[in-house]
Amino acid sequence: MRKENKRKRRPLILIGTVVTGFILLLTAARTTMQGTVEPVKTEFLGMNTYIMFTAYGSDAGEALQAAEQKMADLESAWSVTEESSEIYQVNHSNGEPVTLSGETAEVVGYALSMAEETDGALEPTIYPALTAWGFTTGENRVPDREEIQEILKRVGYRKIILNGNQIQLSEGMELDLGAVGKGYAGDVVTELLKKQGITSALLDIGGNIQAIGAKPDGTDWQLGIRSPFGEGTLGVLSVADKAVVTSGNYERYFVGSDGKEYGHIINPETGYPVENELASITIIAKEGRQGDTLSTALYVKGLGGAITYWKEHPDFDLIAVTDDGEIYLTEKIADAFSLNSAFGNMKVNVIEK
Ligand code: AMP
Ligand code: MG
Repeated sequence: MRKENKRKRRPLILIGTVVTGFILLLTAARTTMQGTVEPVKTEFLGMNTYIMFTAYGSDAGEALQAAEQKMADLESAWSVTEESSEIYQVNHSNGEPVTLSGETAEVVGYALSMAEETDGALEPTIYPALTAWGFTTGENRVPDREEIQEILKRVGYRKIILNGNQIQLSEGMELDLGAVGKGYAGDVVTELLKKQGITSALLDIGGNIQAIGAKPDGTDWQLGIRSPFGEGTLGVLSVADKAVVTSGNYERYFVGSDGKEYGHIINPETGYPVENELASITIIAKEGRQGDTLSTALYVKGLGGAITYWKEHPDFDLIAVTDDGEIYLTEKIADAFSLNSAFGNMKVNVIEK
C-alpha cells in the first residue's frame, strides 16, 4: 500500500447512504405502501464537521430537532474558537480558576481520566502543539525542535486542577476536546433520543458512528469501514447499539517542504505528528466517549501498544489497519467484519486474549 494514495476522507460511511450536501433536511417519518417505516434524517454542519442523524419512529422528527439543538449547544460550550465558549474562557484564563457547566466539567473529567488510563497518549492539553504545526489555522508549517521543546512545557494534563465544576490550568496551557467531544456529544444525543422514545437510530458525527439499537426490522446495521489508503470501503462491519470510531493521520495531514506527510494526531511525548505502522484504527465500544478517546490514544500508541491496552482492558473491540496493508481485529468481532473483495489481498490477523 503506498502512502501517496492517501486521501482526506471520512473514515466511515453508511452503506447505501447518499450524501446530498450540507443542507438541513428534515423529513417526516411515513409508512410506505409496503408498510415499512421510512427514516427521518437531519443533516447539518457542526463541531467542524458534517453531521447526519437518521432515526425511525413516529416521533423521530421532533426528537431529531431536539438532538440538533443539543449539538449546537454543546458546540457553543466546547468550541476552542468561539469567544463565548466555556473552553475558550478556560484557555484565556491566565491561570485563574473558571467555573464550568456540569456537562463541560463531565467531558473534561472524562478526558482527564482517559489521559491517565492511556498513560498520556490521550493528551487533552495538546492544543499549543497543534497550533505550532498550523492545524488550528490551516497554515501548516514544520516547527523546529527548539520551538517544540518550548511548547511541550505548556502541555500536560497532570497540571490541570479539576475540582467539582471548577477548573484551573497553568498559565499558557490550553484545552482541546478535539479527540473526545464528538464521541461524548454522541452519547449525550443518544441519551436524549432514547428519552424521547427512539429505539432505532444512527448518528454520524463526522465519521464517528453511533448506532442506537438495531435497524427497525431488528437486524444489525451494516457499516462500511473506509479504507485509509484512498477510495473505497475496506469491508463491512455488522453492529447494533455500538459506537464505531476511527482515527488516523490520513484524515487530516499536510505535506511539508521536505516532502513528508504530517498528520493532525500528535504524539504528546515528542510533540511531533504520530508516525508509526498504523494507517488507521477503529474502535467499537458501548459508548461514543470511549470509542473517541481510545481511537485517538491507541493510534498514538501504535499497533503493539494498542494490542497490549486491549488485553488489559478488553471491554471494547478494535480493527487496526497497518501501512503495509494488514488488518488486525479482536476475536469477538472477527465474524462481524467482512472484507470487501477489492481488498481481498489484505492479510487479516485475529487478536486473541
Ligand atoms: P480524533 O479525530 O478523534 O482522533 O481526534 C484528533 C483531534 O484531537 C486532532 O485534530 C486534535 O484536535 C486532537 N489531538 C491530536 N493529538 C491528540 C492527542 N495525542 N490527544 C488528544 N487530542 C489530540
Ligand atoms: Mg478521538
